[in-house]
Amino acid sequence: MTAPPVVIVGAGAAAHGSVTGLRRAGFAGRVVMFGREADPPYERPPLSKRYLAGKARREDLMLPQLEAELRLDTEVAEIDLEARAVRLAGGGGLGYSRLLIATGARPRRLEEEGGLYLREISQADRLRAVLTSGRLEVAGAGFIGCEVAAVARQMGVAVTVYDPLPAPMLRVLGPKVGDWLAGVHRGHGVDLRTGVVEPPAPGPATLVAVGSLPNVELAQAAGLECDGGIAVDANGRTSVEDVYAAGDCARFWSPTLGAAVRVEHFQTAVRHGEAVGAAMAGVDIPFLEVPWFWSDQYDLSIQYVGAGLPWDEVVVRGRFGTPPFTAFYLEQGRLRAAAGVNDGRTVSHARRLLATGVQVDREILADRSRDLKALAKPS
Ligand SMILES: Cc1cc2nc3c(=O)[nH]c(=O)nc-3n(C[C@H](O)[C@H](O)[C@H](O)COP(=O)(O)OP(=O)(O)OC[C@H]3O[C@@H](n4cnc5c(N)ncnc54)[C@H](O)[C@@H]3O)c2cc1C
Repeated sequence: MTAPPVVIVGAGAAAHGSVTGLRRAGFAGRVVMFGREADPPYERPPLSKRYLAGKARREDLMLPQLEAELRLDTEVAEIDLEARAVRLAGGGGLGYSRLLIATGARPRRLEEEGGLYLREISQADRLRAVLTSGRLEVAGAGFIGCEVAAVARQMGVAVTVYDPLPAPMLRVLGPKVGDWLAGVHRGHGVDLRTGVVEPPAPGPATLVAVGSLPNVELAQAAGLECDGGIAVDANGRTSVEDVYAAGDCARFWSPTLGAAVRVEHFQTAVRHGEAVGAAMAGVDIPFLEVPWFWSDQYDLSIQYVGAGLPWDEVVVRGRFGTPPFTAFYLEQGRLRAAAGVNDGRTVSHARRLLATGVQVDREILADRSRDLKALAKPS
Protein backbone atom coordinates (compact mmCIF):
# COMPACT_ATOMS: atom_id res chain seq x y z
CA MET A 1 0.00 0.00 0.00
CA THR A 2 1.36 3.48 -0.83
CA ALA A 3 1.74 5.92 2.04
CA PRO A 4 -0.77 8.77 2.25
CA PRO A 5 0.49 12.07 0.80
CA VAL A 6 1.93 15.07 2.57
CA VAL A 7 -1.06 17.43 2.76
CA ILE A 8 -0.76 21.21 2.85
CA VAL A 9 -3.70 23.37 3.89
CA GLY A 10 -3.37 26.76 2.21
CA ALA A 11 -1.72 27.70 -1.08
CA GLY A 12 0.21 30.87 -0.27
CA ALA A 13 3.87 31.82 0.13
CA ALA A 14 4.58 29.50 3.06
CA ALA A 15 2.88 26.55 1.36
CA HIS A 16 4.94 27.21 -1.77
CA GLY A 17 8.16 27.43 0.26
CA SER A 18 7.35 24.18 2.03
CA VAL A 19 7.22 22.25 -1.25
CA THR A 20 10.64 23.67 -2.14
CA GLY A 21 11.90 22.58 1.27
CA LEU A 22 10.42 19.08 0.96
CA ARG A 23 11.87 18.50 -2.51
CA ARG A 24 15.28 19.97 -1.68
CA ALA A 25 15.47 17.65 1.30
CA GLY A 26 14.88 14.72 -1.04
CA PHE A 27 11.20 13.95 -0.45
CA ALA A 28 9.99 12.24 -3.61
CA GLY A 29 6.46 11.29 -2.53
CA ARG A 30 3.07 12.82 -3.27
CA VAL A 31 2.29 16.33 -2.05
CA VAL A 32 -1.27 17.67 -2.20
CA MET A 33 -1.94 21.37 -1.58
CA PHE A 34 -5.46 22.72 -0.89
CA GLY A 35 -6.13 26.41 -1.56
CA ARG A 36 -9.35 28.29 -0.96
CA GLU A 37 -8.57 30.87 -3.63
CA ALA A 38 -8.85 30.12 -7.34
CA ASP A 39 -5.23 31.17 -7.98
CA PRO A 40 -2.10 29.09 -7.50
CA PRO A 41 0.45 30.50 -5.00
CA TYR A 42 1.23 34.16 -5.75
CA GLU A 43 3.00 37.17 -4.26
CA ARG A 44 0.68 39.39 -2.25
CA PRO A 45 3.07 42.36 -1.68
CA PRO A 46 2.48 43.86 -5.17
CA LEU A 47 -1.27 44.01 -4.46
CA SER A 48 -0.73 47.28 -2.59
CA LYS A 49 2.12 48.43 -4.85
CA ARG A 50 2.90 47.69 -8.52
CA TYR A 51 -0.20 45.60 -9.24
CA LEU A 52 -2.54 48.20 -7.76
CA ALA A 53 -0.71 50.89 -9.73
CA GLY A 54 -1.28 48.90 -12.94
CA LYS A 55 2.47 48.30 -13.36
CA ALA A 56 2.37 44.50 -12.94
CA ARG A 57 0.06 41.96 -14.53
CA ARG A 58 -1.71 39.13 -12.77
CA GLU A 59 0.65 36.56 -14.28
CA ASP A 60 3.67 38.54 -12.98
CA LEU A 61 2.57 37.75 -9.42
CA MET A 62 2.53 33.98 -9.77
CA LEU A 63 5.23 31.99 -7.96
CA PRO A 64 7.08 29.32 -9.98
CA GLN A 65 5.29 26.01 -10.54
CA LEU A 66 6.30 23.21 -8.21
CA GLU A 67 5.98 19.47 -8.03
CA ALA A 68 2.74 19.30 -6.05
CA GLU A 69 -0.91 18.53 -6.83
CA LEU A 70 -2.86 21.75 -6.51
CA ARG A 71 -6.50 21.56 -5.46
CA LEU A 72 -7.63 25.14 -5.84
CA ASP A 73 -11.00 26.67 -5.02
CA THR A 74 -11.11 24.02 -2.32
CA GLU A 75 -11.53 24.80 1.35
CA VAL A 76 -10.45 22.46 4.10
CA ALA A 77 -13.25 22.50 6.67
CA GLU A 78 -11.81 20.23 9.34
CA ILE A 79 -8.67 18.49 10.48
CA ASP A 80 -9.32 15.09 12.01
CA LEU A 81 -6.18 14.35 14.00
CA GLU A 82 -7.33 10.90 15.07
CA ALA A 83 -8.13 9.74 11.54
CA ARG A 84 -5.06 11.65 10.21
CA ALA A 85 -7.20 13.22 7.50
CA VAL A 86 -8.55 16.56 6.31
CA ARG A 87 -12.23 17.02 5.41
CA LEU A 88 -13.22 19.35 2.61
CA ALA A 89 -15.98 21.95 2.74
CA GLY A 90 -17.49 20.58 -0.48
CA GLY A 91 -17.48 16.99 0.85
CA GLY A 92 -14.85 14.28 0.74
CA GLY A 93 -11.44 14.31 2.36
CA LEU A 94 -7.91 13.02 2.22
CA GLY A 95 -5.63 11.17 4.60
CA TYR A 96 -2.16 12.50 5.30
CA SER A 97 1.19 11.13 6.36
CA ARG A 98 2.27 14.59 7.48
CA LEU A 99 0.18 17.74 7.55
CA LEU A 100 1.23 21.36 7.11
CA ILE A 101 -1.13 24.15 8.10
CA ALA A 102 -0.23 27.27 6.10
CA THR A 103 -3.54 29.12 6.22
CA GLY A 104 -2.04 32.62 6.46
CA ALA A 105 -3.91 35.59 7.89
CA ARG A 106 -6.93 37.69 6.99
CA PRO A 107 -7.69 41.39 7.37
CA ARG A 108 -9.22 42.34 10.70
CA ARG A 109 -12.75 43.49 9.98
CA LEU A 110 -14.58 46.45 11.43
CA GLU A 111 -17.89 45.72 13.11
CA GLU A 112 -19.70 47.94 10.63
CA GLU A 113 -20.69 46.49 7.28
CA GLY A 114 -19.18 47.95 4.11
CA GLY A 115 -15.74 49.01 3.06
CA LEU A 116 -13.09 47.29 0.99
CA TYR A 117 -10.46 44.88 2.29
CA LEU A 118 -7.15 43.92 0.68
CA ARG A 119 -5.66 40.44 0.85
CA GLU A 120 -6.48 38.77 -2.47
CA ILE A 121 -6.08 39.60 -6.17
CA SER A 122 -9.83 40.04 -6.70
CA GLN A 123 -9.91 42.57 -3.84
CA ALA A 124 -7.02 44.51 -5.42
CA ASP A 125 -8.99 44.57 -8.71
CA ARG A 126 -12.02 46.00 -6.90
CA LEU A 127 -9.90 48.59 -5.13
CA ARG A 128 -8.30 49.64 -8.39
CA ALA A 129 -11.73 50.15 -9.94
CA VAL A 130 -12.66 52.37 -6.99
CA LEU A 131 -9.50 54.44 -7.46
CA THR A 132 -10.71 55.47 -10.90
CA SER A 133 -13.57 57.33 -9.15
CA GLY A 134 -10.92 59.79 -7.94
CA ARG A 135 -11.57 59.54 -4.19
CA LEU A 136 -10.42 57.12 -1.49
CA GLU A 137 -10.73 56.90 2.27
CA VAL A 138 -8.42 54.62 4.19
CA ALA A 139 -9.10 53.41 7.72
CA GLY A 140 -5.74 52.47 9.21
CA ALA A 141 -2.27 53.93 8.61
CA GLY A 142 -0.35 50.68 8.88
CA PHE A 143 1.91 49.60 6.04
CA ILE A 144 -0.91 48.48 3.71
CA GLY A 145 -2.92 51.66 4.32
CA CYS A 146 0.18 53.80 3.72
CA GLU A 147 1.18 51.95 0.54
CA VAL A 148 -2.31 52.18 -0.95
CA ALA A 149 -2.49 55.88 -0.06
CA ALA A 150 0.84 56.41 -1.86
CA VAL A 151 -0.30 54.56 -5.01
CA ALA A 152 -3.60 56.44 -5.00
CA ARG A 153 -1.92 59.85 -4.66
CA GLN A 154 0.43 58.99 -7.51
CA MET A 155 -2.68 58.34 -9.60
CA GLY A 156 -4.03 61.77 -8.64
CA VAL A 157 -6.72 60.37 -6.33
CA ALA A 158 -7.89 62.49 -3.37
CA VAL A 159 -6.99 60.43 -0.28
CA THR A 160 -7.99 60.74 3.37
CA VAL A 161 -6.39 58.38 5.89
CA TYR A 162 -7.73 57.91 9.41
CA ASP A 163 -5.90 56.30 12.30
CA PRO A 164 -6.58 56.48 16.02
CA LEU A 165 -2.84 56.38 16.72
CA PRO A 166 -0.79 59.59 16.48
CA ALA A 167 1.44 58.53 13.55
CA PRO A 168 1.50 56.06 10.62
CA MET A 169 3.13 52.64 11.06
CA LEU A 170 3.63 53.65 14.68
CA ARG A 171 3.67 50.17 16.20
CA VAL A 172 6.56 49.07 14.00
CA LEU A 173 8.51 52.27 13.43
CA GLY A 174 7.88 54.19 16.66
CA PRO A 175 7.00 57.89 17.01
CA LYS A 176 10.19 59.44 15.59
CA VAL A 177 10.13 57.66 12.23
CA GLY A 178 6.31 57.58 12.26
CA ASP A 179 6.09 61.38 12.61
CA TRP A 180 8.54 61.80 9.76
CA LEU A 181 6.45 59.44 7.59
CA ALA A 182 3.32 61.43 8.43
CA GLY A 183 5.08 64.48 6.99
CA VAL A 184 5.97 62.55 3.84
CA HIS A 185 2.34 61.59 3.22
CA ARG A 186 1.06 65.06 3.97
CA GLY A 187 3.72 66.47 1.65
CA HIS A 188 2.26 64.28 -1.11
CA GLY A 189 -1.20 65.66 -0.47
CA VAL A 190 -2.70 62.93 1.73
CA ASP A 191 -5.27 64.29 4.18
CA LEU A 192 -3.83 62.30 7.08
CA ARG A 193 -5.97 62.42 10.20
CA THR A 194 -4.09 60.73 13.00
CA GLY A 195 -5.18 60.50 16.61
CA VAL A 196 -8.77 60.26 15.34
CA VAL A 197 -10.64 57.77 17.46
CA GLU A 198 -13.70 57.40 15.26
CA PRO A 199 -13.24 57.24 11.50
CA PRO A 200 -16.51 57.65 9.60
CA ALA A 201 -18.52 54.47 8.84
CA PRO A 202 -16.86 52.62 5.95
CA GLY A 203 -18.41 53.40 2.58
CA PRO A 204 -17.94 51.91 -0.92
CA ALA A 205 -14.73 53.95 -1.38
CA THR A 206 -13.19 53.11 2.00
CA LEU A 207 -10.29 50.71 2.32
CA VAL A 208 -10.28 49.12 5.75
CA ALA A 209 -6.67 48.26 6.64
CA VAL A 210 -6.68 47.89 10.40
CA GLY A 211 -4.37 44.94 10.82
CA SER A 212 -4.80 41.22 10.34
CA LEU A 213 -5.63 38.09 12.26
CA PRO A 214 -4.00 34.67 11.88
CA ASN A 215 -6.22 31.94 10.43
CA VAL A 216 -5.98 29.57 13.37
CA GLU A 217 -9.58 28.38 13.64
CA LEU A 218 -9.01 25.03 11.88
CA ALA A 219 -6.07 24.28 14.16
CA GLN A 220 -7.95 25.44 17.25
CA ALA A 221 -10.99 23.30 16.44
CA ALA A 222 -8.69 20.29 16.06
CA GLY A 223 -7.30 20.97 19.54
CA LEU A 224 -3.84 22.18 18.52
CA GLU A 225 -2.12 24.58 20.88
CA CYS A 226 -2.57 28.20 19.74
CA ASP A 227 -1.29 31.35 21.38
CA GLY A 228 -1.79 34.36 19.11
CA GLY A 229 -0.88 31.96 16.27
CA ILE A 230 -0.45 28.20 15.94
CA ALA A 231 2.29 27.37 18.45
CA VAL A 232 5.27 25.65 16.81
CA ASP A 233 8.90 24.98 17.72
CA ALA A 234 11.95 26.14 15.74
CA ASN A 235 11.20 23.45 13.11
CA GLY A 236 7.51 24.19 12.71
CA ARG A 237 6.24 21.26 14.79
CA THR A 238 2.92 21.78 16.53
CA SER A 239 1.89 20.10 19.76
CA VAL A 240 0.80 17.02 17.73
CA GLU A 241 3.14 14.61 15.96
CA ASP A 242 3.34 14.91 12.15
CA VAL A 243 1.40 18.18 12.17
CA TYR A 244 3.29 21.36 11.29
CA ALA A 245 2.47 25.02 10.73
CA ALA A 246 4.30 27.76 8.81
CA GLY A 247 3.92 31.36 7.67
CA ASP A 248 1.57 34.09 8.91
CA CYS A 249 -0.61 31.64 10.87
CA ALA A 250 2.26 30.29 12.98
CA ARG A 251 3.84 31.57 16.15
CA PHE A 252 7.30 30.03 16.07
CA TRP A 253 10.17 29.85 18.46
CA SER A 254 13.05 31.88 17.06
CA PRO A 255 16.40 30.83 18.60
CA THR A 256 17.96 33.92 17.01
CA LEU A 257 15.59 36.36 18.69
CA GLY A 258 15.16 34.31 21.84
CA ALA A 259 11.41 34.77 21.61
CA ALA A 260 8.29 33.20 20.16
CA VAL A 261 7.15 35.42 17.30
CA ARG A 262 4.46 35.56 14.66
CA VAL A 263 5.57 37.41 11.57
CA GLU A 264 3.55 38.69 8.63
CA HIS A 265 6.23 39.13 5.97
CA PHE A 266 6.45 37.55 2.56
CA GLN A 267 10.12 36.55 2.62
CA THR A 268 9.82 35.16 6.13
CA ALA A 269 6.78 33.10 5.08
CA VAL A 270 8.67 31.61 2.12
CA ARG A 271 11.81 30.83 4.13
CA HIS A 272 9.83 29.54 7.09
CA GLY A 273 7.92 27.27 4.71
CA GLU A 274 11.23 26.02 3.27
CA ALA A 275 12.63 25.19 6.72
CA VAL A 276 9.43 23.49 7.87
CA GLY A 277 9.18 21.56 4.57
CA ALA A 278 12.71 20.24 5.15
CA ALA A 279 11.78 19.23 8.70
CA MET A 280 8.74 17.35 7.32
CA ALA A 281 11.18 15.44 5.08
CA GLY A 282 13.26 14.56 8.12
CA VAL A 283 15.96 17.24 7.78
CA ASP A 284 15.90 19.50 10.83
CA ILE A 285 17.32 22.94 10.15
CA PRO A 286 16.09 25.31 12.88
CA PHE A 287 14.66 28.50 11.44
CA LEU A 288 17.24 31.15 12.30
CA GLU A 289 16.26 33.97 9.94
CA VAL A 290 15.70 37.45 11.22
CA PRO A 291 12.31 38.72 9.98
CA TRP A 292 12.62 41.33 7.25
CA PHE A 293 10.12 43.32 5.22
CA TRP A 294 10.06 46.20 2.80
CA SER A 295 7.43 48.79 2.03
CA ASP A 296 7.37 51.01 -1.06
CA GLN A 297 5.81 54.44 -0.60
CA TYR A 298 6.30 57.11 -3.30
CA ASP A 299 10.04 57.12 -4.08
CA LEU A 300 10.89 55.61 -0.71
CA SER A 301 11.88 52.05 0.01
CA ILE A 302 11.43 51.41 3.72
CA GLN A 303 13.05 48.22 4.97
CA TYR A 304 12.69 46.78 8.44
CA VAL A 305 14.52 43.96 10.20
CA GLY A 306 13.43 42.62 13.55
CA ALA A 307 10.23 41.33 15.05
CA GLY A 308 8.66 44.35 16.73
CA LEU A 309 10.10 43.36 20.12
CA PRO A 310 10.28 46.07 22.83
CA TRP A 311 12.92 48.81 22.55
CA ASP A 312 13.75 51.88 24.62
CA GLU A 313 16.17 53.91 22.45
CA VAL A 314 16.52 54.94 18.81
CA VAL A 315 19.94 55.60 17.25
CA VAL A 316 20.05 57.14 13.78
CA ARG A 317 22.67 56.53 11.11
CA GLY A 318 22.74 59.21 8.43
CA ARG A 319 20.85 62.51 8.46
CA PHE A 320 17.43 61.78 9.92
CA GLY A 321 14.66 62.67 7.49
CA THR A 322 17.00 62.88 4.49
CA PRO A 323 17.26 59.43 2.90
CA PRO A 324 19.32 57.35 2.96
CA PHE A 325 19.12 56.94 6.74
CA THR A 326 18.48 54.11 9.19
CA ALA A 327 16.98 54.04 12.67
CA PHE A 328 18.31 51.36 15.01
CA TYR A 329 16.03 50.24 17.83
CA LEU A 330 17.85 49.25 21.03
CA GLU A 331 16.68 47.72 24.28
CA GLN A 332 19.05 48.39 27.16
CA GLY A 333 21.78 49.01 24.63
CA ARG A 334 21.13 45.76 22.68
CA LEU A 335 20.14 45.97 19.04
CA ARG A 336 16.56 44.74 18.55
CA ALA A 337 15.54 46.04 15.12
CA ALA A 338 16.37 48.52 12.38
CA ALA A 339 14.34 50.52 9.87
CA GLY A 340 16.10 52.02 6.88
CA VAL A 341 14.79 54.45 4.29
CA ASN A 342 16.44 54.01 0.88
CA ASP A 343 19.27 52.42 2.87
CA GLY A 344 19.12 48.72 1.98
CA ARG A 345 22.84 48.15 2.58
CA THR A 346 22.71 49.31 6.19
CA VAL A 347 19.56 47.27 6.80
CA SER A 348 21.20 44.14 5.44
CA HIS A 349 24.18 44.72 7.74
CA ALA A 350 21.79 45.24 10.66
CA ARG A 351 20.13 41.98 9.74
CA ARG A 352 23.48 40.27 9.94
CA LEU A 353 24.20 41.88 13.33
CA LEU A 354 20.86 40.60 14.62
CA ALA A 355 21.47 37.14 13.19
CA THR A 356 24.93 36.81 14.74
CA GLY A 357 24.08 38.58 18.01
CA VAL A 358 27.17 40.79 17.65
CA GLN A 359 26.69 43.97 19.68
CA VAL A 360 27.97 47.30 18.38
CA ASP A 361 28.33 50.55 20.35
CA ARG A 362 25.71 53.18 19.62
CA GLU A 363 28.46 55.62 18.52
CA ILE A 364 29.52 53.18 15.80
CA LEU A 365 25.93 52.51 14.76
CA ALA A 366 25.40 56.24 14.37
CA ASP A 367 28.59 56.84 12.39
CA ARG A 368 28.06 56.37 8.66
CA SER A 369 31.79 56.20 8.03
CA ARG A 370 32.10 53.01 10.12
CA ASP A 371 31.73 49.73 8.22
CA LEU A 372 29.02 47.62 9.86
CA LYS A 373 29.55 44.77 7.44
CA ALA A 374 32.97 43.92 8.86
CA LEU A 375 31.63 44.14 12.42
CA ALA A 376 28.70 41.84 11.68
CA LYS A 377 31.00 38.82 11.44
CA PRO A 378 30.93 36.70 14.58
CA SER A 379 34.37 36.50 16.27
C1 LIG B 1 -1.68 43.88 0.33
C2 LIG B 1 -0.52 43.19 1.01
C3 LIG B 1 0.76 43.73 0.89
C4 LIG B 1 1.84 43.11 1.51
N1 LIG B 1 3.07 43.66 1.38
C5 LIG B 1 4.13 43.07 1.97
C6 LIG B 1 5.45 43.62 1.83
O1 LIG B 1 5.65 44.65 1.20
N2 LIG B 1 6.48 42.97 2.40
C7 LIG B 1 6.30 41.82 3.10
O2 LIG B 1 7.27 41.26 3.61
N3 LIG B 1 5.07 41.28 3.28
C8 LIG B 1 3.98 41.88 2.72
N4 LIG B 1 2.73 41.32 2.87
C9 LIG B 1 2.56 40.12 3.71
C10 LIG B 1 2.81 38.83 2.95
O3 LIG B 1 2.12 38.83 1.75
C11 LIG B 1 2.41 37.65 3.83
O4 LIG B 1 3.25 37.65 4.96
C12 LIG B 1 2.49 36.30 3.12
O5 LIG B 1 1.62 36.26 2.04
C13 LIG B 1 2.17 35.18 4.09
O6 LIG B 1 2.16 33.95 3.44
P1 LIG B 1 1.31 32.73 4.00
O7 LIG B 1 1.52 31.61 3.04
O8 LIG B 1 1.62 32.52 5.42
O9 LIG B 1 -0.20 33.21 3.95
P2 LIG B 1 -1.09 33.62 2.71
O10 LIG B 1 -0.28 34.22 1.64
O11 LIG B 1 -2.22 34.41 3.28
O12 LIG B 1 -1.65 32.23 2.17
C14 LIG B 1 -2.55 31.45 2.88
C15 LIG B 1 -3.53 30.82 1.93
O13 LIG B 1 -4.28 29.83 2.61
C16 LIG B 1 -5.61 29.86 2.18
N5 LIG B 1 -6.47 29.22 3.19
C17 LIG B 1 -6.78 29.68 4.43
N6 LIG B 1 -7.60 28.80 5.06
C18 LIG B 1 -7.80 27.79 4.20
C19 LIG B 1 -8.55 26.58 4.28
N7 LIG B 1 -9.26 26.28 5.37
N8 LIG B 1 -8.57 25.75 3.21
C20 LIG B 1 -7.84 26.05 2.09
N9 LIG B 1 -7.12 27.19 1.96
C21 LIG B 1 -7.08 28.04 3.02
C22 LIG B 1 -5.87 31.34 2.03
O14 LIG B 1 -6.99 31.57 1.23
C23 LIG B 1 -4.56 31.80 1.37
O15 LIG B 1 -4.63 31.69 -0.01
C24 LIG B 1 1.62 41.93 2.26
C25 LIG B 1 0.33 41.39 2.39
C26 LIG B 1 -0.73 42.01 1.77
C27 LIG B 1 -2.11 41.42 1.91
